[in-house]
This record gives sequence, C-alpha cells and structure tokens, in this order.
Amino acid sequence: MKNHEPDKPWDLTRFPTIQPPAGSRPHADAGDATCFLGAEDRLRAPKLDEAVATIKNWFRAMSLNVLAFGTGCGAIELRPLATSRFDMSRFGITGAPTPRQSNVFIISGYLATKTLKRVIRCYEQMPNPKWVVALGSCTINGGMYWDSYNTIKVLDLYMPVDVYISGCMPRPEALIAGFSYLMDEIKAGRANGWHHYLENLDWYRENQKQVITDWDLPDYNW
Ligand code: SF4
Repeated sequence: MKNHEPDKPWDLTRFPTIQPPAGSRPHADAGDATCFLGAEDRLRAPKLDEAVATIKNWFRAMSLNVLAFGTGCGAIELRPLATSRFDMSRFGITGAPTPRQSNVFIISGYLATKTLKRVIRCYEQMPNPKWVVALGSCTINGGMYWDSYNTIKVLDLYMPVDVYISGCMPRPEALIAGFSYLMDEIKAGRANGWHHYLENLDWYRENQKQVITDWDLPDYNW
C-alpha cells in the first residue's frame, strides 16, 4: 500500500474501499490498484484547493495591519481615517507598530532616496503575503518633485505596488476606496506584488542599488 500524505484530504486513495466509477481509468501516478479516479474525482481536487485558497484570501483581506511609517505629507490623511468619522477598523484595518507585525505598507507620498533604503529594509522584514499601497501623485511620477535630485520618481522600479491612490493629497474617502479595491484584489487572489518581488529580486536589487549608493543592507533571508 502506498504511503499517503495526511495533508491531502481529497486523495481518494486513502479510502481503498471506494470502487472505481464506471468509465474511470487508473490514475497515471498511482502504483496502487485501488487508486481509480474518474473524471469527476479528478476535477474535485483542484476545486478543494481553490476553495481553501479563497477562504484564506478572504480572511487576509479582512485583516489588514498597516505599518505606521509615514514617508511624505500624504500620511496626514491617514489620521482621520483611524478616527470615528471614517473608522477604518470597521473594515478590519488597523495599525501595527513594527514591520514584522504588518502586512500592508503605505507609501504616503514623496519618497526621498535616503528614505527608500529604510523602506526597502522594512518591506523585506514584513512577512508574506504583504501588500503595498502608494498614496498621492508623488509616488506615481514624482508629482511636484518630478525634477528633484533626491526623490524617487517611479516607485514601481524599486518595490512592487499593489494599489495607487491618486491625488495631492488623497482624501480619507479616496483612501477607503483604495483599501476596498485592495481587499477585492486580495480576495480574488490578484494582489501578488510580494510574489513578483520574490521572483524578480535581482531586477529590483539592481534598481535599488542605482539610487542607494551606500548599500549596506543584509542579504534577504527568504
Ligand atoms: S502627492 Fe501631494 S500630498 Fe502627497 S506627498 Fe506629494 S506633494 Fe505631498
């Protein structure tokens, strides 16, 4: 009898008394004669996977812990968002004091090249999955600092951004709309910036080192 892994509850070979349904064929990978999976059974496994992933994503979307790190003047609009008038906690959004307890990083406006170094360090300390929300025109194209020598013009080159909220500065209503969009993206499994960062780390590192001249960050221990 094959040794079955306990973490695959859909694996029908765990139940040797099940008879092969009419028209079924032996599973290609199974050395066990009792392992017969019909077309319906073969469809069942990915559906269970998808259901578990959907539930996980739903819970993640309803539990956003925002790192308290204001990089630019857009951070001032985050304060009213936490008060009773706009009440971000009703969406499951709350603040977190350290990167290791956060899963949302808000880049709240312009980002100086010196700040970028700290932002990268904090972002890499956050556990996966994690998401980045960029507030204001400055994060999109430099905004009113478009010709400044020491601000970041295109944030996407240095870290993955899941949601941009435009405006200078965006009002709390716009922030709520942006968070709602992020939650929908997480639930749909489309907010995968963190995964993109892992897969393209070399590309991001190359870009980061072009503006952070005194690079002394430790290697990321994935
Ligand atoms: S977009 Fe406007 S409010 Fe936001 S950081 Fe830039 S100048 Fe400040």
